Amino acid sequence: MTLSASPALLEKTALETYVPPAKPSLIGLSRADLAAALGGIGVAASQRKMRAQQLWHWMYFRGVQEFSEMTSISKEMRSQLAEHFTVARPEVVAEQISNDGTRKWLLRLPSGVSGEKAHEVECVYIPETDRGTLCVSSQVGCTLNCSFCHTGTQKLVRNLTAGEIVGQVMVARDRLNDWADRETPNGNRLVTNVVMMGMGEPLYNFDAVRDALLIVSDNEGIGISRRRVTLSTSGVVPNIVRAGEEIGVMLAISLHAVRDELRDELVPLNRKYPLAELLQACRDYPGASNARRITFEYVMLKGVNDSLDDAKLLVKLLKGIPAKINLIPFNPWPGSAYQCSDWDQIEKFSEYIFNAGYSSPVRTPRGRDILAACGQLKSETEKLSAREREALRAMAMTD
Ligand code: SAH
Ligand code: SF4
Repeated sequence: MTLSASPALLEKTALETYVPPAKPSLIGLSRADLAAALGGIGVAASQRKMRAQQLWHWMYFRGVQEFSEMTSISKEMRSQLAEHFTVARPEVVAEQISNDGTRKWLLRLPSGVSGEKAHEVECVYIPETDRGTLCVSSQVGCTLNCSFCHTGTQKLVRNLTAGEIVGQVMVARDRLNDWADRETPNGNRLVTNVVMMGMGEPLYNFDAVRDALLIVSDNEGIGISRRRVTLSTSGVVPNIVRAGEEIGVMLAISLHAVRDELRDELVPLNRKYPLAELLQACRDYPGASNARRITFEYVMLKGVNDSLDDAKLLVKLLKGIPAKINLIPFNPWPGSAYQCSDWDQIEKFSEYIFNAGYSSPVRTPRGRDILAACGQLKSETEKLSAREREALRAMAMTD
């Protein structure tokens, strides 16, 4: 498929019914599961571990897309593998490249129910001078309904599989030509960081996210170190400590409010896990230290959570937690009830936090012309009305 670089040519189209592939993909399997899959097609027990290791290298280090390219594996074995499996990633249905270099891929996934419409998720690549960050989704839609988030308004929800999560990183490496080969034995190092900040609540899809991130950070494969992988959660308290123990990645908390009444409204999960419990889970997060700080995300909503009293309370709440604060200008979407704080208010807020000793970078909105900024990820499985689409386009273009 040829993908055009021009966003204008890449209007999303309605999905036809998706027919899932007949052969399963090996992407997303752990080494042990790979060995078991090989056993299932008759590979001798004595060979499985070694073959799994070879496959691992070709799949996750070299990124090849066909068994025929796995030249260290015998021809016979390669055709046996191709008979039963693929190394397919999610299908890319559109690629958009923003004028600031941000890229967004729209990926098509099987619905999981025969005859039902296919699902879509988006995955966004944000290049910066010293790094390239990939924003990855964990679910189609989200079961939570944060009042300022567009993804939360999407009705259709399903968990992504580990393969679909790892597959997003692999699609990015494919499209950016970022795999290791003879000329570039360490890849081009374009995708250096991964953030689980796309669609969905990663801690509500714990097992798949864990399995996927262990593959992403495996240094014999994709090799993105755990310190460069960040998992963002709206506060699923019981799974926060598990994330530290079982995955060991960096943690980001979508805080957004410093009083329970307001957080109950903005992040309704707060009613189940209120601030005191959430902050205790952060204090207990394994591996947090001044060198490995927890990021607190704080979306700036005009007249709602952006006063200096809020800033003061924020500093007080985070006392004793190795923290950094990430102020996110609110990205409006059609029908949203909020406005982004005025710039001088964001600066005042940021200055207060800075003077209290916190680094408080304001996240620059990226890729607005292709609607790739935070909270604007909402797949077209649920169609926007023509009016909403116009409003989105106008917003994106005038920013
Ligand atoms: N569900 C997870 C991860 C995905 S959301 C979570 O909530 O943490 C990634 C980040 O984008 C979160 O901090 C979220 O609160 C923020 N976000 C959502 N909608 C936004 C919007 N419209 N403008 C700015 N940030 C938004
Ligand atoms: Fe879900 Fe996160 Fe959006 Fe809340 S902010 S609705 S948890 S994706």
